Amino acid sequence: MSAAPPDKPVYRFAPSPNGLLHLGHALSAILNHDMAREAGGHFLLRIEDIDLTRCTPEFEEAIYRDLSWLGLEWEKPVRRQSEHFGEYRAALDRLIGMGLVYPAFMTRGEVKAKVAAHEADGNIWPRDPDGSPLYPEDDRHRSETARKTLIERGVPHAFRLDMEKAVNLVGRSLSWTETGDGERGEIPADPSAWGDVVLSRSDAPSSYHLSVTVDDAAQGITHVVRGLDLFEATAVHRLLQELLGLPQPVYRHHRLIVGQDGKKLSKSESSTGLAALRDQGFLAGDIRRLVGL
Ligand code: GLU
Repeated sequence: MSAAPPDKPVYRFAPSPNGLLHLGHALSAILNHDMAREAGGHFLLRIEDIDLTRCTPEFEEAIYRDLSWLGLEWEKPVRRQSEHFGEYRAALDRLIGMGLVYPAFMTRGEVKAKVAAHEADGNIWPRDPDGSPLYPEDDRHRSETARKTLIERGVPHAFRLDMEKAVNLVGRSLSWTETGDGERGEIPADPSAWGDVVLSRSDAPSSYHLSVTVDDAAQGITHVVRGLDLFEATAVHRLLQELLGLPQPVYRHHRLIVGQDGKKLSKSESSTGLAALRDQGFLAGDIRRLVGL
């Protein structure tokens, strides 16, 4: 779709069809829908299906079914990320052209082994806000000739952002406007905490960070409403927006719905799945109540 006129707020719900929606998704979807309606704005649905191995048409169908059952209406056509790989590639090429990206050849197993060996000696390996080890520096320091040789040999590789270079290029501190359930106000963005984030994978032609940033701009999203689990990731999105010259939405990171064990809900847990609750006789109004709306 083309970007909506800027005077009308544009909201989106952006699930990945790699499992069934649960109560946490219901909270996100209903909040986006209701806020758009109250503001006389747009409510869009985006299917985040860049991971072609884990996303399935059945889960995508289930998303439409569950959202319709909740009584939500979204504008058509739905944006499916798998139909926009060319746009993510164009954004990646721009960042490559700016000298901010390098090919990364280490497999997950190699990274794991390197981190484990380092930690076995009593050292601490730096971790990102989600607790994953930062990507080692080996590939960042590889010479152009060595990179070329590996690529010509057909060694699979991802593309990663050289975080230090990117942050230096922007040359000033970044922030975002937060109106959510946690910290509020102008939040300082610290993208460096994430290290050299992946922009495209060897097995997927984009990454979550790159495609979400490109799509929010392409769809003219003015308000991003999503779970607090993505609060810290916003720093990376702000950096990419700045590098690519894209507008910044206002953010609202909402509380997470937790299970009986106090942990964030997962897609594999069927008891809090929307389809399972529907089968047990729950109604859409019950779901609103269950998520505290
Ligand atoms: N696709 C992401 C998820 O299902 C949400 C992305 C976003 O809202 O920015 O967790």
